[in-house]
Amino acid sequence: MIHAFLPPRAVVREVGLRDGLQSIARVLSTDHKLEWIRGAHAAGQREIEVGSFVPARLLPQLADTAELLAYAKTLPGLFASVLVPNLKGAERAIDGGADLMVVPLSASHAHSLANLRKTPDEVVAEVGRIRAARDAAGSKTLIDGGVGTAFGCTLQGHVDPEEVLRLMQALLDAGADRVSLADTVGYADPAMVRSLFERALRIAGDRLWCGHFHDTRGMGLANVYAALEVGITRFDACLAGIGGCPHAPGASGNVDTEDLVFMLESMSVATGVDLPKLLDLRGRVAGWLEGETLQGTVWRAGFPKTFTATEGVAA
Ligand code: ZN
Repeated sequence: MIHAFLPPRAVVREVGLRDGLQSIARVLSTDHKLEWIRGAHAAGQREIEVGSFVPARLLPQLADTAELLAYAKTLPGLFASVLVPNLKGAERAIDGGADLMVVPLSASHAHSLANLRKTPDEVVAEVGRIRAARDAAGSKTLIDGGVGTAFGCTLQGHVDPEEVLRLMQALLDAGADRVSLADTVGYADPAMVRSLFERALRIAGDRLWCGHFHDTRGMGLANVYAALEVGITRFDACLAGIGGCPHAPGASGNVDTEDLVFMLESMSVATGVDLPKLLDLRGRVAGWLEGETLQGTVWRAGFPKTFTATEGVAA
């Protein structure tokens, strides 16, 4: 049944290779990562964040991002993104021909100084330099200003929504093509999500790109639903729900890709994803990550008899 109050389709953007793997100490081999990208594409996923252009000494787990990006670009119809913390990383993303680069900004000033060693406004200025470099290179790589700790912060506690919206506007003014909101540490609840995304939509319109939620306290899918109801149609997720939280050992990670696809398809929101193929891939990834804490419920319980996927499988 189609529900008039929900969008007919939504994109589930896989971020397990970046957000998931960066919080796991183990380094997954490049071959396994290539198989993961190939499998996600074969299952119908069309947007994948393949890694991050940070110095390899900081995140050895993601040192092969350039190779993964080059491979992702060979897969038909795949929109490949990377995370870039600064201009140096952005230059690598532009050189590699990424479709989109996410520049993270923390709305929490304490989190920003601790993790990025910059104030949020210094990140905004860096986005201006990235935009200038992108345009000078004649590159088509889109710039997404990812506003993190948008719903609260483990260091600072409360994060003022007014400040989140101010920074979002500043990112757009500095040249970001897109902006996104992230609940980096799992502090959001559906009422907060609804309120902030509604206000953000008034500022950014269709340049508001993506909702990024963590399931740290079991609110992940509820938060997706709240954003979906106000018209957001792109969500980050990690296969097997990997991700964790560096400040809460053992905490659950990002929203789980399989469970999110299941929820959307159950509500007739087409994702283009073949769920049995995705569950098969999850099994392989789980094998490579044996010993790590994985999440998810659909792989364990299977599908209910009443479940029928939409026919929106991507070409
Ligand atoms: Zn995250």
